[in-house]
Amino acid sequence: MDKKERFLTALKQSGHRITGQRRAICEYLAQTREHPTPYQVYEGVAQEHPEISLATVYNTLNALRDVGAIVPIDAGNEQTRYETDPAPHINLVCLRCHRVFDYEGEPEAEDQLLAAIRAETGFQPVTKKMEILGFCPECQAQKRAEIRQQLQDK
Ligand SMILES: [Zn+2]
Repeated sequence: MDKKERFLTALKQSGHRITGQRRAICEYLAQTREHPTPYQVYEGVAQEHPEISLATVYNTLNALRDVGAIVPIDAGNEQTRYETDPAPHINLVCLRCHRVFDYEGEPEAEDQLLAAIRAETGFQPVTKKMEILGFCPECQAQKRAEIRQQLQDK
């Protein structure tokens, strides 16, 4: 089942009719490589569906979230972003520009971590959601430039 079908199935399972607008939202979520905010989803879908409302976008995202098809990420600026990739991976969250990047790490190392958790605590991991907070290369470069500028201004 491809990503779009998975989202549509999730909506049906949560008791929603598949309207053209909801289908367009699922298509957008399936193809985006961003971790979109609800407003970004709205803007993306409104290009082809100008009649869509922000409320429809929120309702659809909430329905998908409630069945675990998408996962909210707190990117630190009070804007929820959504993870649309169901495969467990690590998100790198920039504290300055609030963008979220995927990190495809060593799967063996991650499997070892889950096995250790199971062995040590008896907890049964199902999936994982890991966030590393920090600064992206662009923001680091901007910060360095700002510091240089401040030093020159003195
Ligand atoms: Zn950044």
